[in-house]
Amino acid sequence: MTARELSYLDHNATTPVRPEVVEAMLPYLREHYGNPSSVYALGQRARKAVEQARAQVAAFLGAASEQEIVFTSCGSESDVMAIEGACEAPGQKRKRIVSSPIEHDAVRLCLDKLKRRGFAASVCAVDGFGEAELASLEELIADETAVVSVMHANNEVGTIQPIARIAALAKKRGALMHTDAVQSAGKIPVDVKELGVDLLSISGHKINAPKGIGALYVRKGARLGQIVTGHQEKNRRGGTENVASIVGLGVACELAKKDLAKSAHYLELRRKLEAGVLAIPGSRLNGHPERRLPNAAHFSFEGVDGHQLVVALDLEGICASAGPACSSGASMASHVLTAMGCPEPLATGSLRLSMGWGTRESDVDRLLAVLPKTVEKLRRVHAAL
Ligand code: PLP
Repeated sequence: MTARELSYLDHNATTPVRPEVVEAMLPYLREHYGNPSSVYALGQRARKAVEQARAQVAAFLGAASEQEIVFTSCGSESDVMAIEGACEAPGQKRKRIVSSPIEHDAVRLCLDKLKRRGFAASVCAVDGFGEAELASLEELIADETAVVSVMHANNEVGTIQPIARIAALAKKRGALMHTDAVQSAGKIPVDVKELGVDLLSISGHKINAPKGIGALYVRKGARLGQIVTGHQEKNRRGGTENVASIVGLGVACELAKKDLAKSAHYLELRRKLEAGVLAIPGSRLNGHPERRLPNAAHFSFEGVDGHQLVVALDLEGICASAGPACSSGASMASHVLTAMGCPEPLATGSLRLSMGWGTRESDVDRLLAVLPKTVEKLRRVHAAL
């Protein structure tokens, strides 16, 4: 089956690289292959491209200066650079980290590592919609807190967090505020000044740039220890810059900024999608009814295994995703749905549908044409087990 015939409804997993991004990158893979640290013209050509992309990313995020942008290899690295970097900044004495129970594994596993190094990490309470509870955060954030890390929008259910209010709580206690904006960037406005954050992570492959490129916003004056040692990125991150992908990320940020106005189009499509899916008996929507990413919807179906549902949709040419699967291939309840108090039988019967650049109404129609009978068939299989 060709990519054209697929209905790709998994833009929160990854996105296609836009042709404008590919075109901008190609000269830096072919002729302008210099190392940006080299002094001769070939190197300086690459340097100029890297700095132009830095300005594009800074403009996209509303940073005060392009010097506040550090290029990394991915969203995960940006998260680790922010949290571990904040904890291990030179002279940093604070030993506590505050986060939420619905973070991406890049954050969760980083917290586990830091706990083994003697840091205390605690997570706040979230409500049934997956929204972090401010009272719980206020209680946890103390003078001993080095960094608070709460994601801007959740990658499974799409709930958007009150980051500006959380950042104000962190600031009151002198802690750095980090947000993982990997899922929100390009889908809703992301402005570091409005959010009031010190550190913010993004990833190229969620905004139609290639995989393997990311960026971290570091507010001027925020001090971080170095995680990938070396002299590049003004001694903040070692490693010869991935010039072509950095150029791609810059262009993708420009395009994403322009396209933000199209979120109303996704909301329209989502309304149709949700009405169609929720007409299936025994289905429910997860995540916040309003404060949620406009491009995505997350559902649970009684008596269905989410993993089997994804496989069945794949056979129909539709790409979607479920929660994590165990080694036997059966679905497990995700840590996000568990934290939200979703009962296990519903948590294991979940389906995330996410739209983005290139999604057509016909993709939604195709999904709605096959989903009811697919759910029905899988329910019969499930009941017979
Ligand atoms: N944070 C969130 C919320 C994500 O959804 C992802 C990827 O799915 C990441 C971080 C990791 O980004 P990357 O795949 O670029 O490492």
